[in-house]
Amino acid sequence: MSKININKNWKYDEAIESTSHIKLKDKYELFIGGEFVKPLSKKYFKTINPATNECISKIAQANDKDIDKAVKSARKAFESWSKLDPKERGKYIFRIARMIQERSKEFAIIESIDGGKPIRESRDIDIPLAANHFFYYAGWADKLEYAFPNKNPKSLGVAGQIIPWNFPLLMAAWKIAPAIACGNTVVLKPAETTSLTALKLAELIQDSGLPNGVVNIVTGAGETGSAIVNHQDINKIAFTGSTAVGKLIQKSISGTKKKSTLELGGKGANIIFEDAAIDQAVEGIINAIFFNQGHVCCAGSRLFVQESVSDTVIDKLKDRISTLIVGDPLDKNTDIGAINSAEQLKTIDKYIKIGKEEGGEIYQAKCSLPKKGNWCPPTLFLNVSQSHTIVQEEIFGPVLAIQTFRTIDEVIEKANNTPFGLSAGVWTEKGSKIFRLTKELNAGVVWANTYNKFDPCSPFGGFKESGMGREGGLHGLKSYLKFE
Ligand code: NDP
Repeated sequence: MSKININKNWKYDEAIESTSHIKLKDKYELFIGGEFVKPLSKKYFKTINPATNECISKIAQANDKDIDKAVKSARKAFESWSKLDPKERGKYIFRIARMIQERSKEFAIIESIDGGKPIRESRDIDIPLAANHFFYYAGWADKLEYAFPNKNPKSLGVAGQIIPWNFPLLMAAWKIAPAIACGNTVVLKPAETTSLTALKLAELIQDSGLPNGVVNIVTGAGETGSAIVNHQDINKIAFTGSTAVGKLIQKSISGTKKKSTLELGGKGANIIFEDAAIDQAVEGIINAIFFNQGHVCCAGSRLFVQESVSDTVIDKLKDRISTLIVGDPLDKNTDIGAINSAEQLKTIDKYIKIGKEEGGEIYQAKCSLPKKGNWCPPTLFLNVSQSHTIVQEEIFGPVLAIQTFRTIDEVIEKANNTPFGLSAGVWTEKGSKIFRLTKELNAGVVWANTYNKFDPCSPFGGFKESGMGREGGLHGLKSYLKFE
């Protein structure tokens, strides 16, 4: 029987998600006090489709005065929202969760258009998980005394929340759901390149009847975030983003009474032992680094393969990346979508150049890339070592740095030799190895024989330069409460 060469002969027909029912405005205003209002700054910026580099809409750019207005609205709403019967608070949050489910297709399509991620991922991961976060925290709203017995939990006040562009709606849900479940009100800023689903969420929140001012969504760039951080009447800053900006925020709020949680960057180690199920591990490597174009804080961007199986794993990996489809985010066949912005593509290209200059051996899949938009083929770097820049710094793209190891002690030392401490993966059939690594790896989350699994019940966060505090689960609830 002749062997079918999937790489060469298998061609998928296009399966483009229809956008005919998607309604996007030409211009989006700020969501303050339950209404869409024009920015006092009178300024707007463009949001771009990264797969085509065409403008989708214009978005209001909030300045200090707009932020002040949003914080005042949140403060006013806090008076009644924090005193509302917690059961009633829960009902509103359940309603938001159900409405996200009802409109999930619309959210998924907009997320892919605005951010470049494959529709399969926004449809199957981002949006369902966002709804699940609202469901999960809705359930806790009237059970805070059971969550923290004898501690008399009380809400904090107004939370300023700043999120990145890699999981726009999901990050908004991570932030808003626990905050309002605990009786706080919020001022949230999405990232400049991906504001649309947060603004769609604002429309949904308006439809849900949530009291005005409980959730305020203000758009803009770094200065808008900075205005939130520096506002005097904010009780807590919840930030997810880069380590560099996290450090700036920490400096700005030191000496103030503001509480903070900082979810920052990462450089996850994905470790393959010789006794692992190799084919399964190869799929795990693909998921760990190429999920969401590698724009993932906990991406397994450093691969450690035990020397005895490294040739096999690398051969299989090269084969597998040649089957990955890079292209239109709205095509259901697409595995790797568009790089989120031209700026991020420049950063990735810069690191690829550095990797080559420092002597790394590059292997890129020979896939065809669309003519317009921002694209990067799946990229492997072999023959790198701990001192290489691409092994130490977060690239935030589909670029994997591969090293080998011989012993468990060696891999623990190498995996921990990074300024970050967010995530790791371990592939082995031995439970004893898994337990040793979960104890000795300096990472907030360690996955065993899987990667990139998320659940609202499970706390997530990092050590070292990956941040402070946890989101998700009871830990996520605790950071929005004070105890008397
Ligand atoms: P940035 O730190 O550049 O931006 C994050 C958010 O902060 C954006 O909304 C940004 O606005 C805003 N911002 C920028 N400058 C300031 C400032 N001086 N003061 C206040 N806010 C500011 O990160 P990216 O958006 O590039 O996101 C990628 C980073 O996020 C990666 O390092 C990744 O690892 C990390 N991340 C961490 C996660 C975790 O849970 N640990 C999860 C997801 C991502 P704007 O974009 O509009 O300029």
